[in-house]
Amino acid sequence: MTLVRVAPPLSQDVDLSKTYDAVIVGSGAAGGMAAHVLTSRGLKVLMLEAGKKLPIEQELRSMQWPYDHPRRGDAPPGSHHLSFNEYTIRKPPYAKGAAFKHVYSYVGGWSGSDYVKNILVDEKDHPYTGTNYAWVRARCLGGKTNIWGRLALRLSDYDFKAKSHDGYGEDWPISYADVEPYYDKVDLYLGISGVKENLPHLPDSQFQRPSKLNFGEVKLRQSLKKTGQVLTPYRAGVTTDGLKHNRYRSKCYGRGACDRRPGGCDIHAVFDSPTGLIYPAMDTGNLTVRPNSIAHEVLVDKNTGRARGVAFLDSATRKSYEAKAKVVILAASTLESARLLLLSRSPQHPNGLGNSSGHVGHNFCEHVMGPGVTGLIKELVGKPHTLDDGRPGGFYIPRFRNLKDRQPGFIRGYGYEGNSGHSMFPAHVMDTPGFGGPFKKAVRDHAGAFISMGAFGEVLPRYESHVDLDPAVKDAWGIPVLRFHYQFSDNERKMAEDMVATGREMLEAAGIEVVGTDDKVLTEGWSIHELGTARMGNDPKTSVLNQFQQSHDVPNLLVVDGSSHVSASCQNPTWTIMALAWRSCEHLADEFRKGNV
Ligand SMILES: Cc1cc2nc3c(=O)[nH]c(=O)nc-3n(C[C@H](O)[C@H](O)[C@H](O)COP(=O)(O)OP(=O)(O)OC[C@H]3O[C@@H](n4cnc5c(N)ncnc54)[C@H](O)[C@@H]3O)c2cc1C
Ligand code: SF4
Repeated sequence: MTLVRVAPPLSQDVDLSKTYDAVIVGSGAAGGMAAHVLTSRGLKVLMLEAGKKLPIEQELRSMQWPYDHPRRGDAPPGSHHLSFNEYTIRKPPYAKGAAFKHVYSYVGGWSGSDYVKNILVDEKDHPYTGTNYAWVRARCLGGKTNIWGRLALRLSDYDFKAKSHDGYGEDWPISYADVEPYYDKVDLYLGISGVKENLPHLPDSQFQRPSKLNFGEVKLRQSLKKTGQVLTPYRAGVTTDGLKHNRYRSKCYGRGACDRRPGGCDIHAVFDSPTGLIYPAMDTGNLTVRPNSIAHEVLVDKNTGRARGVAFLDSATRKSYEAKAKVVILAASTLESARLLLLSRSPQHPNGLGNSSGHVGHNFCEHVMGPGVTGLIKELVGKPHTLDDGRPGGFYIPRFRNLKDRQPGFIRGYGYEGNSGHSMFPAHVMDTPGFGGPFKKAVRDHAGAFISMGAFGEVLPRYESHVDLDPAVKDAWGIPVLRFHYQFSDNERKMAEDMVATGREMLEAAGIEVVGTDDKVLTEGWSIHELGTARMGNDPKTSVLNQFQQSHDVPNLLVVDGSSHVSASCQNPTWTIMALAWRSCEHLADEFRKGNV
């Protein structure tokens, strides 16, 4: 087996005396894509990333067995990851007064906190305030793409034109036809595995080889077919056939490590922004990357009010710097980009940059999750064990609610992510009664016979769902932090009730015994799919950006991350973030060459 192990490009000298064509803030999915598109069009680009450039393979150690780790994957003593109860009962800032040396978000608790301790932020340094919110942040080159769950889905006109469908909220200023060519480009450049299903509400991608469904999943797929519902192999942002144009990534060898930890793949079969986008962009000679650079203000020209660069602090030395550029592109993630806009007050933009509408920080939306169901496939009990976890994902059941039907209790819909079969640690050991020999036999006999699925539902955007700057609390670098004003509404709660009921019905109809249901709605933020704080639209009075993610107020400012999304859909957002960033940056490069920006 030959694995690709090409060293990342060497670190570069950063010349802050020159004016770059563009400065990009953030290096995750959005920033990486902006860098790829602009540098391939010949623009000279500086990327500022707040976090470190990590030796990521050494962090992820995808093939390390639990017994090869001194603490079976746990972080050293003194580290703590937040629990559901802490997020629910206490109020942020959650690390305030904690006796632990380091406090991390709940993702660290998914077995293997040692592997993400340098990727996730330490909540002690990065507080936030307001209503309960489980905010997961990754500060390092590549951001959250280093550990993302890689479910890569498209949106459809049920999402882009949701208001036309059910009357709520706003339509996007674009339709699926506008984005489709860019989804195709993302698929072909980064690789995605899956199966075509021809669904109008979940458009197909340009798929590479899919992973195989196992016995329980095929059984459920066949049963769902009878009612017109679909179960499809996980659409994974993973290259399964390889990418000839990218020397930093290997194809998936199905080693099974994906399911052991909070994501991450040390041979980069899973898309991550550094190997997928940033290193190839550096190879063009047009991209300079400066890690450890915390942007805290977009600077504007006093006369024109246009963006002229970015003020940042070196995270290690705390020294202040300025980066000059003809165009500023924010890609710091939905909430951090909103924070930067709000921090960038000036006499020309007293309400924050690009905020003449008063919509920056508002219309915040995401996905509601928690409800789920587990079933026992009786035919598999006591059967020989099989290797099921050598694949990058399980299955996906796309949205089926409020497409042709109208549910009485809620609008919009949800999809299920699920998994079945054998895993390294047998499922449901903790729920198995008994002890001694009979207990061990029960665990062995039942291992691999379970199927579980959990739903992700669309949270409606509302103007009152917003973030602003806390007037008193600052982060470890003295920068004001975000304050949340955000809670689920009845629509989400009613949808969550339906998730449990339909999950149960689906398994029962397939002849799978339901052995557990979860009706608990997890804390706001748990989905890690935050969206909508600088939405796009045609009307500058009710939106922050135009259809090319360009500020209505400041034409040489773009915000290319999920903050531009008008509504959340129920599909995971990262592939859409990248398709939109590609579209906007291509448009920007054209306008730039014409001298229009
Ligand atoms: C465990 C996990 C599972 C996930 N699963 C999925 C999934 O299955 N499917 C899916 O679609 N999505 C998933 N996501 C979400 C996905 O990772 C995000 O949608 C995606 O990474 C967003 O890209 P981004 O560029 O907007 O933000 P990020 O990836 O967060 O990148 C933002 C970058 O900006 C940097 N930054 C922030 N502030 C500043 C500043 N002031 N100055 C300089 N730099 C700054 C950060 O350090 C970071 O590197 C998951 C996320 C996690 C953590
Ligand atoms: S299953 Fe594939 S994508 Fe997942 S860690 Fe292994 S090689 Fe990487």
